[in-house]
Amino acid sequence: MDMQSSKTVKKPLRIMKFGGTSVGDATRIRKVVEIIRDAARESEVVVVVSAMSGVTNRLIEAAKQSEAGNRDEVEAIFEELRDRHNAVVSTLIHSVGMRSRINRELRLVFEEGERLCEGTTLLQELTVRAHDSISSLGERLSAPLVAAALAESRVSSEAIEATQVVVTDTCHGSADPLMGPTRQCCESRLRPILRRGVVPVVTGFIGATEEGVLTTLGRGGSDYSATILGAALDADEVIIWTDVDGLMTADPRLVPGATTITEISYREAAELAHFGAKVLHPKT
Ligand code: ASP
Ligand code: MG
Repeated sequence: MDMQSSKTVKKPLRIMKFGGTSVGDATRIRKVVEIIRDAARESEVVVVVSAMSGVTNRLIEAAKQSEAGNRDEVEAIFEELRDRHNAVVSTLIHSVGMRSRINRELRLVFEEGERLCEGTTLLQELTVRAHDSISSLGERLSAPLVAAALAESRVSSEAIEATQVVVTDTCHGSADPLMGPTRQCCESRLRPILRRGVVPVVTGFIGATEEGVLTTLGRGGSDYSATILGAALDADEVIIWTDVDGLMTADPRLVPGATTITEISYREAAELAHFGAKVLHPKT
């Protein structure tokens, strides 16, 4: 191959998904940044992130407490979540400009969350839309955080809300993608970013209907987000980073002798997930 053509060889496209444990604190996020930085040298990378571990559960609790009218509990949960995210900002983001920008971004998401909870308290009803909007706040916090951490390490990145790229049906709480429109949105929103050599950091778990109403794909749905984006962008590889090395013969938390399975068919993997293996979302 001559120099001319080697320059134009298309880099492979990798979707890399990091779950809640992988982005669970500043130390873990630092590691994630290293992994992405290395991968971005030889491939185009789309990052998909979950909420920091435990955050979605707390948000759902806040939603329920709002419905019950327990404003103090709701406030306490938001305070706790604010502290957790702020701790990451102060450990990882040092440049003054970047820090004030990320603080502002996070503040806007928190304020929106508080308004959604206040609305729920006033209505005394947790609607499916509000449930989705509140439970998805965690990803809307973690994606800008990871993008900022990447930028801090000189990896050009942009946080993207999946409401702009994953178009779904209206089945709140376990929405499925409409692949035609999703493909179109990925082409128009993500492809140009990739062409510029920038790493998009997309919120997992979330989509939006054709009318633009936010939906969620179901608990653990960020895995599914990664494969939806992989299919939509015709990626070469989808990599799900998690706290175990792969699909295992049993849940290693329950069976100490569990080992990693070297090879498995999609059908078998789907079956394992369907019957409760937590490692992958069943629709992934
Ligand atoms: N944050 C969401 C959940 O806890 C989605 C995910 O982590 O995949 O279910
Ligand atoms: Mg998971």
